[in-house]
Amino acid sequence: MHGTAAITPASIKAVRPLVDRFAHRTPLRDDELLGRRVDSPVGLKLENLQPTGSFKIRGAAAKVAGLSPDQRRRGVITASTGNHGRAVAHVARSLGVDATICLSDNVPAGKIELLERMGCRLDIGGSSQDEAFDRAIALADHPDGPILVHSILDPVVVSGQGTCGLEITEQQPGASTVIVPLSGGGLLAGTTVAVKSRLPSARLIGVSMEQGAVMHASIQAGRPVRLPEFETLADSLQGGIGTDNATTFPIVRDLVDDIVLVSEDEIAAGMAYALHEHRLILEGAGAIGIGALLSGRLRPDSGPVVVVCSGANAELDVVAGLAQRPNPAR
Ligand SMILES: *Cc1c(COP(=O)(O)O)cnc(C)c1O
Repeated sequence: MHGTAAITPASIKAVRPLVDRFAHRTPLRDDELLGRRVDSPVGLKLENLQPTGSFKIRGAAAKVAGLSPDQRRRGVITASTGNHGRAVAHVARSLGVDATICLSDNVPAGKIELLERMGCRLDIGGSSQDEAFDRAIALADHPDGPILVHSILDPVVVSGQGTCGLEITEQQPGASTVIVPLSGGGLLAGTTVAVKSRLPSARLIGVSMEQGAVMHASIQAGRPVRLPEFETLADSLQGGIGTDNATTFPIVRDLVDDIVLVSEDEIAAGMAYALHEHRLILEGAGAIGIGALLSGRLRPDSGPVVVVCSGANAELDVVAGLAQRPNPAR
């Protein structure tokens, strides 16, 4: 469906100029308190500050801005209601490209409203996100149909996410541990290829929630598996990796050093910490790396640590609740 899945240092460098037109080179913020806890310098890579609130703008920019004039005329299509859909809609709108998002019948009204405001065409139907995704694939599968923008199976998108890793090596050339939120592995695979090309001895660690960690289960099984979905604060980490994943699965299996799982309370503690200590709103997925360090589930080797804080789009009632708690690290 997506050709050969080549994610290489060269493919990541090649898309960087496109990514730089839409994404910020986000800051690496020094975190003294967390650094004292783990006895090494800790930097937070603040992808929550990106346009549309997550790193997904990188892959969307690489893919959509890289289309030929003929492909742009056909428009783009995807099935994500979350950060990937927002990022694709944003880049497409800036370039005057039509974007269609396929949704199931049970997507909440608030999400639909937000996507409508961003100017996308919505294609609503079917009872699950998997069905919506199958519709997107079917619509894209015509000679003149829209171009599919897949968040983890498209090597151009994953190469775009890898630009986050290039920035990390420039901002912290001594990085010895890089901690990355993990769902389908687009961010982790791209970041791993980029970081290891420049810092071969750096350790790359993926972090997922305890329940429904599909990549973790797949690595253990030795092949992509499916799991039921569970409710979680890290809702951006839900979803499958595809049964035929030749893109991110082999990279995570062969190059990533470890995958750590974190409980819901520990994710909440990560969010509360970011809010109290840094006055930053992080969604559950964005705070999961902090949660892994605070809880002691992840003990980095000595040497500088980088924690990718992947997104900001938390529900405000959840954030308000966490603001009532004390700082979990003080
Ligand atoms: C998509 C997303 C992730 C997970 O990215 P994958 O490439 O699917 O592993 C993590 N955090 C946030 C905020 C996201 O939107």
